[in-house]
Amino acid sequence: MVETQVVSEVSIFGQIAEFQHEQVVYCHDHETGLKAIIGIHNTVLGPALGGTRMWHYASDAEALHDVLRLSRGMTYKAAISGLNLGGGKAVIIGDAATMKTEALLRKFGRFVQNLNGKYITAEDVNMTTRDMEFIRMETKHVSGLPESMGGSGDPSPVTAYGTYMGMKAAAKRAFGSDSLEGKRIAVQGMGHVGTYLLEYLQKEGAQLLVSDYYEDRALAAANRFGAQLVGLNDIYDQDVDIYSPCALGATLNSDTIPRLKCQVVAGCANNQLADENIHGPELVSRGIVYAPDFLINAGGLINVYSEVVGGNREAALIQTEKIYDITTQVLAKAEQEGSHPQAAATRQAEERIAAIGKVKSTY
Ligand code: NAD
Repeated sequence: MVETQVVSEVSIFGQIAEFQHEQVVYCHDHETGLKAIIGIHNTVLGPALGGTRMWHYASDAEALHDVLRLSRGMTYKAAISGLNLGGGKAVIIGDAATMKTEALLRKFGRFVQNLNGKYITAEDVNMTTRDMEFIRMETKHVSGLPESMGGSGDPSPVTAYGTYMGMKAAAKRAFGSDSLEGKRIAVQGMGHVGTYLLEYLQKEGAQLLVSDYYEDRALAAANRFGAQLVGLNDIYDQDVDIYSPCALGATLNSDTIPRLKCQVVAGCANNQLADENIHGPELVSRGIVYAPDFLINAGGLINVYSEVVGGNREAALIQTEKIYDITTQVLAKAEQEGSHPQAAATRQAEERIAAIGKVKSTY
């Protein structure tokens, strides 16, 4: 679930400077065993919003690297989606199965509260709705709560809708039409988002291929959507029009890209490019249209944002639909600039932050 890489002996401030963070908060509590890091990357557009994940990191340096990378990603996701949110993320260091207690979570909630709304937390890997309820007992700066608690509920259907919109925009670029009827689409990962995405694709009459780490999930999806079941590693070799990574990150790498026969890659997984500077250009050189991951999977964040600003699911879906137009713009811009879509999307996000930063420069 957590993609980390070997962290070199760079100083803490060296790493923070490299990622250009505003603030990094180390939280420690002897009684509960809490060790957490909150990364606040950029708050030019608004409060830093991003989930808290709990993970047994091999070292503190690895945890720092993860929180810095993830929180920076949230900045770009919010910025390109037109949200008035900054980027943040938190990691709690430890084994969720044995260390997670009510007291530890509530202590963490108090650290979030101390930031006075500069950071708003939400659910992420190894955190449940129940855990968020405990954090909520100590701070109001929590989002993504269940609908029964007045929150915006499961973000996955909205993420799937945005991914679908981004896929259609990329299809238009590659095939000249955004219709997915008859298109052969391989969806990797039959989880929350993948399954909702299949509903849209089936409705449009796409021919579906599916795979999942858990065979029963893959089989259930194949039966439900009339899809062809594909082996875990075989998915990259299929004769398809579109590959949709909806499981883990880094599935676009030097091993898989040469095997792809598709003309479009569009999925909801985070950090799909193993190395964006290598694999972004490589997809372009192979004539594959890549819909940037942080752009087309922003529906979930848009849904959570609606909770922060007092909107509703309908408003979130309307905003999410705009992912189609933004993807269209980004793909055109990448081609004009002779760059690749991920780089063009990142630049568009940075430009918005810079422009709005100037707007805010007077009282
Ligand atoms: P999930 O955990 O519900 O589903 C992931 C699925 O992928 C699981 O069924 C798992 O068994 C499967 N899987 C894992 N490794 C696989 C492999 N090698 N091959 C095939 N299947 C594999 O997660 P989700 O909520 O559906 O999210 C999917 C992806 O989208 C993740 O990368 C997540 O970070 C990202 N994402 C999710 C949301 C959201 O709203 N849930 C928002 C933005 C991004």
